[in-house]
Amino acid sequence: MAENWKTRTKLVHTGARRSQYGEMSEAIFLTQGFVYDTAEAAEARFVQAGPDEFIYARYGNPTVAMFEDRIAAIEGTEDAFATASGMAAVNGALMSMLRAGDHVVSSRALFGSCLYILEEILRRFGVEVTLVDGTDLEQWRAAVRPGTRAVFFESVSNPTLELIDIAAVAEIAHAVGALVVVDNVFATPVFSRAVELGADVVVYSTTKHIDGQGRCLGGVICGSRDFIRKTVETYMKHTGGSMSPFNAWVMLKGLETLDLRVRAQDESALIIARALEGDERLHRVLHPLLPSHPQHSLAAQVMGGGGTVLAIDLKGGKEAAFRFLNALKIFKITNNLGDAKSLVTHPATTTHQRLPEDQKALLGITPGLIRVSVGLEDPDDLVADLRQALDVI
Ligand SMILES: *Cc1c(COP(=O)(O)O)cnc(C)c1O
Repeated sequence: MAENWKTRTKLVHTGARRSQYGEMSEAIFLTQGFVYDTAEAAEARFVQAGPDEFIYARYGNPTVAMFEDRIAAIEGTEDAFATASGMAAVNGALMSMLRAGDHVVSSRALFGSCLYILEEILRRFGVEVTLVDGTDLEQWRAAVRPGTRAVFFESVSNPTLELIDIAAVAEIAHAVGALVVVDNVFATPVFSRAVELGADVVVYSTTKHIDGQGRCLGGVICGSRDFIRKTVETYMKHTGGSMSPFNAWVMLKGLETLDLRVRAQDESALIIARALEGDERLHRVLHPLLPSHPQHSLAAQVMGGGGTVLAIDLKGGKEAAFRFLNALKIFKITNNLGDAKSLVTHPATTTHQRLPEDQKALLGITPGLIRVSVGLEDPDDLVADLRQALDVI
């Protein structure tokens, strides 16, 4: 029966484990270790731990397991492994499966730290990495070959909101036997269709919408039971990137309200995008559901929604952008996203500062570009705040 539940029911109930006290709210098992009744029991558990048997919090913990079971049920994968941060998830998904001599193809439009893992870490260990324009299927076709072990991309890129045709890239990758690894942060589990479109592994930074209230770092790797337990768990439990039980509890509570929050933020993001599009002080407004978005036709397929983030490109470059940011009253200047509070980021000088100028230009990260993460405030107030800040410049 639980398998047939709809997402909102799963978000509240799936994975719950109750102790002998029958607590209503999921318990925080804030314990590193577990006690064995006998030496024989300890030996047996190290040979094969059962589903409700735990050894050490770096390997697994009841609160973390509840979170893993719940998110796997929503994403539609057999299993999941929770990690200390989104980057621990990206690193774990890739490093656990790759070895020297393997080949990886990745979209170039990536979060800075993802780019570091692909360009620096993987290459340092002898993995060959080819970067492509992820929106150009011809480039994917030309780059894959027998020996390509994985393809990697953000389904919706940060910060320019390019959409990748997951189904088409998966077909190209699977033809050479490569695994499809998708960083799905911007789609969120609410709008994700990654698995049904062919993704083998889906990675989230749970720091973003899943916490959703700016408290804890976290990440998760979703995939087949074999991949998660044999490849990922083995790597993660020995290298120390597991999620803390306290953070897992915060994430579990975040999942309960995820659908309501993300849908409200999604609705407001579209209201704001429509209100700002055409403003003469802007070069452009980027939002997947605006017909002016370059991959507008893919939006419904990749996301099942528009997402909670938009980007605006101000005329007048960095100077205008800074004046605009400093004039905002409700929106907070930060580098995070997916929060209940509305947030703004100037990627060129913060999250993507490290990139050389030609790369920034290639990725569309102009001096006037501002990423807007829409929160739970009243959209009328948010539109008014953005308009008054535009008036200041
Ligand atoms: C934030 C983010 C990450 C990294 O997550 P952390 O939890 O900050 O480590 C990875 N990928 C994308 C697309 C992100 O937005």
